[in-house]
Amino acid sequence: MARKGEEKEFVKELTPKNVDFSQWYVDVIRKTDMADYTTLKGCMVIKPYGYALWENIRDQLDMRIKATGHKNAYFPLFVPESLLTLEAEHVEGFAPEVAWVTHGGNEPLEERLAIRPTSEAIICSIYAKWVQSYRDLPILINQWANVVRWEKVTRLFLRTTEFLWQEGHTCHRTLEEAQAETEKMLGVYKEFAENALAMPVIHGEKTDSEKFAGAQKTYTIEALMADGKALQAGTSHNLGQHFAKVFGIKFLDEDQSEKYVWQTSWGVSTRLVGGVVMTHGDDSGLMLPPVIAPIQAVFVPIYFSSSLEAVNDKIRELGEKLSRFRVELDLRETQTAGWKFNEWEMKGVPLRIEVGPKDIQKKQAVIVRRDTREKIFVPEEQLAEKVELLLKEIQHNLYNRALAFRNEHTTRTDNYEEFKDVLENKKGFIISGWCGSPACEQKVKEETKATIRCIPMEGREPEGAVCVACGKPAPSKVYFARSY
Ligand SMILES: [Zn+2]
Repeated sequence: MARKGEEKEFVKELTPKNVDFSQWYVDVIRKTDMADYTTLKGCMVIKPYGYALWENIRDQLDMRIKATGHKNAYFPLFVPESLLTLEAEHVEGFAPEVAWVTHGGNEPLEERLAIRPTSEAIICSIYAKWVQSYRDLPILINQWANVVRWEKVTRLFLRTTEFLWQEGHTCHRTLEEAQAETEKMLGVYKEFAENALAMPVIHGEKTDSEKFAGAQKTYTIEALMADGKALQAGTSHNLGQHFAKVFGIKFLDEDQSEKYVWQTSWGVSTRLVGGVVMTHGDDSGLMLPPVIAPIQAVFVPIYFSSSLEAVNDKIRELGEKLSRFRVELDLRETQTAGWKFNEWEMKGVPLRIEVGPKDIQKKQAVIVRRDTREKIFVPEEQLAEKVELLLKEIQHNLYNRALAFRNEHTTRTDNYEEFKDVLENKKGFIISGWCGSPACEQKVKEETKATIRCIPMEGREPEGAVCVACGKPAPSKVYFARSY
């Protein structure tokens, strides 16, 4: 096998990350068959490999959403214009991105229907019927759905006109309960991002200018991508009584007085797939965390024509022993072993298991890790045990690498000149003092394209910090970055 030579040829097809990160990203997504463009502008087709990754992400999160007492339901795709426009702030926030249905067949509709850009309006109008008494509370519902936002600039997985997501919508009896729910789901997102996606995140509160349209408070998890830009990976909103008052979601409390409910909503979307690609990938392609990888281990036979049957039989036998993992047996005879090595490496499969005639003799298999490329010889009878151990190790290693990268690319400064220099050269997060004024926030945004990603939940103590824009004493430290 001319393995070395082939590897070089193959890798050339991906633009190196440090040459053009955006092109590298598109190359990886398309060449690993995760997604493709369509003739429909701004829309993508998620191909089976990308969809399998999304399904694993979805299942991991769905399990956590249910474990915290929520149930799934499904609400209509259409939102009548009169409902969407009831809440001024909300509609103003979404109006430029709404797609409208104007006809049913050939008949013009009496009222335009929006294709949901988010479902607060339709769901609140339904909750108004469901909630009568304090006994009906809390309502803890989540929906997995598609939404449409008419985006001008789109990017595979990160920003597409139609995308998939989950949106939780809850109603509570008190403000305290709603706030606890908002923070609980933020915590769920953080734990999920870090343990399932191996993606470290900063969790915190959005400033007023970056809040969800109609929310009282918006919380976010922010991840740092390998090009030094931040990615908003999930948000959780305390909606207060804003929507409840507009849509009339009222209940008779125990004290016989009529009250409005307190609400939350929270969501993550298919942009997490893009986040996983940009957090872990390298110049050879994807590197997928084992917990969500569509294929956790791939068997590649090494044979000469005389040993083909024996090797394939051994692989089928070993494959059976690994049935509790997501395993692929690549027994294709149309491709060389070297080609397969490159293919699966590019697709980010955590473990490759090679079996050849010599290995059969020695009753062993050869495991190669995607993250470190370490080659490990394992006795057949210890294979399952070793695979389990290695998958855990890789999961931790990917998280630790991403965390080390984030730490290296987080700078603490209140000096505006240094701030600008870091943004241009080192990139990443900058922790700076902020006086709280929207004018200072706006000035930094206009002059540097960096936004306040969040006021962190942890470590916001100012300790003598001053506002990076105006130099006045700062009541909190915030995370700035350029972002997706
Ligand atoms: Zn200031």
